[in-house]
Parts: sequence; structure tokens; C-alpha cells
Amino acid sequence: MQLSLLRQGSSLSQPARQREVLEGERSAALKTFGDSLLQHDRNAFVARGIEVMQINVGKVCNQTCTHCHVDAGPDRRESMSRETAEAIIDVLKKNDIPLLDITGGAPEMNPNFRFLVEQARLLGRRVIDRCNLTILMAKGFTDLPEFLAENEVEIVASLPCYLEENCDAQRGDGVFTRSIAALKRLNQLGFGKPNSSRLLTLVYNPVGASLPPSQDELEATYRTELKKRYGVEFSQLFTIANLPISRFLDELLRLGSYDTYMETLVEAFNPIAADHAMCHTMVSVDWQGRLFDCDFNQMLKLGVEPSAAQTIFDFDIEKLAQRSIATGRHCYGCTAGSGSSCQGAAVQSSS
Ligand code: SF4
Ligand code: SF4
Repeated sequence: MQLSLLRQGSSLSQPARQREVLEGERSAALKTFGDSLLQHDRNAFVARGIEVMQINVGKVCNQTCTHCHVDAGPDRRESMSRETAEAIIDVLKKNDIPLLDITGGAPEMNPNFRFLVEQARLLGRRVIDRCNLTILMAKGFTDLPEFLAENEVEIVASLPCYLEENCDAQRGDGVFTRSIAALKRLNQLGFGKPNSSRLLTLVYNPVGASLPPSQDELEATYRTELKKRYGVEFSQLFTIANLPISRFLDELLRLGSYDTYMETLVEAFNPIAADHAMCHTMVSVDWQGRLFDCDFNQMLKLGVEPSAAQTIFDFDIEKLAQRSIATGRHCYGCTAGSGSSCQGAAVQSSS
């Protein structure tokens, strides 16, 4: 059953306005996501267990990137409390969820970041830090690389280009130089070095309104260029598409590129990528402890299905592990071409 995108009412908040753009008259000429699933003999999405708990600890960030789907920045105040962080650790203690994936904003700026990392690692869970790199060079945070190394945290770091001009156009002036400095520091600690257990994954997302290129080919180019130009090494590269939500949706509308971008995503729908969409095996938690199918649904305020637990405080893995997932046209961003997820491309080709 296709869940209604508008089940949470029609307030004039930004998420409601964005849902209206995606599902309303503005997009009437586009297929619905449910139509594309049906056309390819796919059922509506239902969870297949929970292997990842992704927590978004808030919108506070030291950057203000143009494509940011969280609408994060230095002026934001939304930040996960200690009570919610403790509830997350309590859920991990009681449930066999192997991976805690911490995102934001800049997650390291949350006062409970180190508590979450240390406690999850004590429980033997893998921990991912979705890091913007520049935070590692910011005043008050320069001891973070050592902390991440000591706790064997896997770093997934944004670097949208190996060229300074393209990177700074998306992420802000001076970001590239500070990112390279952070990468060199991480390399010194063994992150991203050949055969090292300290994983350093780089993330590419397109600067404009286009799909990412082949992940394998781009990884090879990044590897050559970063080594040659800066002596930087990394473990692997993920390519991630920009989803048409939040700040990126605003930008598409402002530039008049919305229709073209959406048509590109719809035409590139790949049913195999849909089969591998990350929401099938994850649950997403916001800074207040509310539950969502993924970080994108979180930004659109599309909660998990009403019959499942709604917050971390009444977490019930049995129901959540087989819940129906709320989908909509924004999901075309995860299912176009080779697919896109927090683990990079979902499939190796778009066939
Ligand atoms: S994309 Fe990441 S680094 Fe950039 S503003 Fe958003 S949360 Fe911060
Ligand atoms: S946006 Fe992506 S991850 Fe989220 S529900 Fe849609 S397909 Fe799943």
C-alpha cells in the first residue's frame, strides 16, 4: 500500500510546503513513485529488519552548503539532549542492531557525540561518523581525529570534488583547503591507508542538478588525483545523488531546474536500485528522538507508519522491522541510475 505523503497534515511549515511541491499540482506531469514500482512489478516498500540505526543529532553545523538536505548551519539550535542520547544507547543495549550511523549537521558539535561513540563502541557496535572534515580543524575540535582513531570509528567524509573551485562552490570558500588539511591529519593516524582497519570513505555528490557518474570510475580518478596533487589516501568513494528536498529543492526551484531534474530522476528509475534502497534495513532517529524511515523522510517530517513506535522512548523492534515505508517522488533520488544510499551507489550499473 502506498502511504500518503500528506498524512501529517497541511501546516505551512517548510516540510509541508516541500511535500506539496513534490506531490501536488507542481509535479502532476510526473509519475508517482508508486506508479514506477508497479510498472516494474515491485511492491510498495516494507522493511526487512533493522541493521542500521542512523541518528541525526541536530542541525548545528560549522558550514552552510548549498545542497544541504538538513538545512544546517551555525545559527541552528536543534541539538540532541543527553536524555535522548541515553535512550539511544539503551535501545542498542536491548536490541541487536550492529551499526550506529551518526549524522547531523556536524554531529561532532553535539555535546553528547563522544558519549554516543564511546557507549556504542563499548557495546561492540560499529560506529560511523558522517564528518564534514572542516570540523576536525575547527577551534575546540582539533583532538577529534585522535578520539575517532582510539574508538575505531569509521569516517564517512564529504568531498564533492578533488578540485578546489568546485568544492568551494558547493560547500563555501576555504572549505577545500581545510578539508585537505583534515584528510592529511587522518592519513597520519592511519585512516584511509592501504590495509588499515581505520576506514576513511569519501563522499561525492554532484555540484549541480545531475546524476552522479559511475562510482568505480570516479573512485579511480579521485584516488589518482588526490594522491598526485596532495598525497592524500582514502579507503573507498561513495557517490550520492542530491535528493530534491530542503535547501537543494529550494535551489532547484529558484534556478528553474526542478522539472528537468525530476524528469531526469524519473526516467532513470532503476528497479534493482529500488530493491536495494537503504530504508529497507534502517531506522532513522531525529534530534528529539522521533523515528523515521530515513534521514530524507525525517527532513520532510514523514514519520514511520502510525502502528509502529514513534519515538526512541517506546522503541519496538518487532514492529519497526516489518513496517511499511513512506515513499514519495523524493525517493526517485535513491532509485535513479545506479541508485544512491548512505552506503553509496546501490548497484554497479543501471541495467
Ligand atoms: S551538507 Fe553537511 S557540512 Fe554542509 S551544511 Fe549540511 S550538514 Fe553541514
Ligand atoms: S528517500 Fe530513499 S531511503 Fe528514504 S524512503 Fe525514499 S527510497 Fe527509502
